[in-house]
Formats: sequence, C-alpha cells, structure tokens
Amino acid sequence: MSEKSMGQSMEDVLTYKKKSIYDTASPELIQAMDAYAVGYKAFLDEAKTEREAVEVAVRMAEEQGYTAYTLGAPLQAGDKKYYNIHGKSLILMHIGSDDIETEGVRILAAHIDNPRLDLKQVPLYEDAGMSFFKTHYYGGIKKYQWTATPLALHGVIVRADGSKVNVCIGEQEGDPIFYINDLLPHLAAKQSAEPLGSAISGETLNILIGGIPYNDKDVSDKIKLNVLSILHEAYGVTEEDFLSAELSLVPAFHARDIGFDRAFIGAYGHDDRVCSYPALTALFEAEATSKTVMVILADKEETGSDGLSGMQADIFVDLLEEISLSLGKNPRAVRVASKCLSADVTAAYDPNFADVYEKRNSAMVSCGTAMSKFTGARGKSGTNDASAEYVGFVRRLFNEAGVCWQTAELGRVDAGGGGTVAKYISQHNIETVDIGVPVLSMHAPYEVVSKADVYSTHQAFVAFIK
Ligand code: MN
Ligand code: MN
Repeated sequence: MSEKSMGQSMEDVLTYKKKSIYDTASPELIQAMDAYAVGYKAFLDEAKTEREAVEVAVRMAEEQGYTAYTLGAPLQAGDKKYYNIHGKSLILMHIGSDDIETEGVRILAAHIDNPRLDLKQVPLYEDAGMSFFKTHYYGGIKKYQWTATPLALHGVIVRADGSKVNVCIGEQEGDPIFYINDLLPHLAAKQSAEPLGSAISGETLNILIGGIPYNDKDVSDKIKLNVLSILHEAYGVTEEDFLSAELSLVPAFHARDIGFDRAFIGAYGHDDRVCSYPALTALFEAEATSKTVMVILADKEETGSDGLSGMQADIFVDLLEEISLSLGKNPRAVRVASKCLSADVTAAYDPNFADVYEKRNSAMVSCGTAMSKFTGARGKSGTNDASAEYVGFVRRLFNEAGVCWQTAELGRVDAGGGGTVAKYISQHNIETVDIGVPVLSMHAPYEVVSKADVYSTHQAFVAFIK
C-alpha cells in the first residue's frame, strides 16, 4: 500500500463526504439489517391504518411489560406505561431514575397515519350494473396512482346501538379486493393531455364493490341492495350505519423485498411506520436506560396534525405534566430540559427526477438515517429550524455511538416542501430536530426504503434514549 500524500491526509481530516453504510458494513451488519427488516415488514402488513398501528403497538408494548395509564394516576421510576388516545394515537412512557428537571425527557415522535381513501358518510350507490363506494382522499396523494390497483377495506362501523364492528377485507389470500376503474388508453386522448394533477378528479375515485343484483323485480338499485344484504349478514349493519363509520381503502399489497440483492423494502405506509417501528424497537431495546423516555405515535400528521389525535392536541403536554407532577418536578423546567427527535421520513434523492433535488443536500439511499435541520417551503416557511447547538448535540451523540447518518433537505429550493410534527413539539420549549428514513416514491401506494437506512434509524433512536 502506498502512503497517503499530504493532500490526501488533509482531505481525510478537512473534508466532509456522505458515506454509504455499505462502504464499511460487515457481513454481520448486513445480516442484522436484513433480520431487522423481517420484523418491520410484519409490522407493515399488520398495521395499515392508525387504528391498527395502535393495536399492534399496544400488543408489542404489553409483551414488554407496559400497562395502560389512566390520567391522574401517579408515576414513579421504573414505570412503563402507554396512553391510548381514542384508539388512534398512542404515547408510551418509560419513567427513568434520572432527575427530569435537569435531564429532561427524551422524546421520539413519529406518526402512524398515512395517505389513503376514506369512505364518505353516505358512500353506497349503483350505476350501470355496478355498485360503488364514494370516497374522500386523506392526505397528499397523486390521484392517478390509486386507480386500477388492488385495494383493501379497513376500519370500523359503529352500529345504531353503539356496538362496534371491525372491518378488514382484502388482506387475506382468498379475500375479494376493491378497485377504482380507469379509462382505457383507446379513449384517453383527452385525459392523457391533461396535467397529471387533474387527469383524475377526486370525485372519480369511486370504489367498485359489487355487480350482482338482489333477486327481486320489485326493488330498484338491486346491486346496492345485494351488497347491503351481504354486509348485513357479515356485520349486522345497515346503510345508515355508514353514517357512524370510519372505513378506508388502502393498497392491498404486502411488504416485499425489492431487487436481486433485496436491498430495499417496498410497502404501503413506510411514511411513517418506518420511523414508528424503530421508535418502538429502540424503546424496548433501551429498556435499562436511566432516562425518562416518551414515544409518540401520532395521528393526523398527513392532514396538519389537527384534532383530538393530532400532535397539536394538549394530551402530549398533559402527559409530560403528569410525569413531572408525579415526580415532584416543575413541568416547565422539565420541558426546557427535554429533547426531541421528530421521527419522520424525508425524500430520498432519485436520479429519475434529479431536477427537483439538490444533490449535495439531499438524502441518499443507504447513507443512513437523515437529519433535516429545517423543513417547510418557500424560504423555510412553516418550519421548526433546529438550532446549531441542538444539531451539534445530536451529531456528537450519533458519532459517539457509531451511527451512520446524514443530513437532508427535501428537494431544491422552491421546488416544493413539506412539514412534520416538529414545530408542534418545539413550540412547547422543547428542542426538536427532524430525523428519519429517506423514502423513494413517498406517498405512493407502494413506497420504497433501504433496509440499511431503516436499521440505521433504529440505531440512532437507541443512541438517543440509551
Ligand atoms: Mn411523514
Ligand atoms: Mn407524509
């Protein structure tokens, strides 16, 4: 081996280069990344809606000794509690032995809702030998991606007597699936000339659900009635029960490895299960930590973090206050001492669409979990812009733990932008920075992440709360 020149040595010390995890990954690490992905893929398949994600997370937490928390109940060091926010978001609390007035609470905040198609409250109709559901999309979708693809129906129906039925159709082998018709290319001359964003309108995202008429010549809308009779038999519901239902169409695909080398995972809902799952596994792995840790699995991030189960709701601060008061600490002092990672995905640089990215500052696949100092759009509007001091703190933490990580900016300046829950946490006087897995085809029915980045995110979260 030839010795390094002065310039090469200086280059090593003085310059910064993004590194791929695979530059230095041992066969053992690659195996560990693959093994971790197995659990993650199972989580993806089981938790396609926020309600299902809460159920799975509660089950995982209970297996680790967590129990349900009731507001007002005292907390003490060693407690492992979860608080279920109306079945749609979840906050887990691990009470450590450190003084939270000086050490604060370490917070990992991810979200468990994702873009999908929700049924309208009066969804059912028939036309031209077919029965359909009307939908209203949830979150930022490219509507054309949802036509001509298999969909599954998930959700709950609350019946007239208040009883609730869970619905999940299209996930099991042999289940029927649902579908949105698209126009054949032969007749799509006008549609094809439309801009991508308006070629498919929201009101045409109607779900094909039936085609066999009820056998009675005296009723109109026979196909609709036949669907209702099937639903009544299966779930004991009537058409009026849709008024108090929450039913969503999600892609019927399961999570799969992508590529000959299986480097990537394709799935619906990586955003933001790909941060939610590592937040949970890190919490369980760092079981012996002396820190007090809070893991938030929020709902409604995709629509602005509003409402009862969104990150802007008071419950998050209420729980910090419950912890503080239980331990005899001042909640305001605890908040200012606390630190948060807003655990959400960012856009991975995609060479197919290079013109919307700025390569030096984009997240690269397999270069590790990606920290975004700021998000927002048009001159950093609507962002939590983490301080240099806090970024410096997290940087030291990751480097000392040997976490392979990178920084990220979502796209070129003025190409667009996006937001996360970060600003709804930092507004409570809690230092917060965004970090998460780079995603290809974000918000598409089938998104892609690198296994290396998923594992790196788990390692980063462990380092943060250990
Ligand atoms: Mn997200
Ligand atoms: Mn999103």
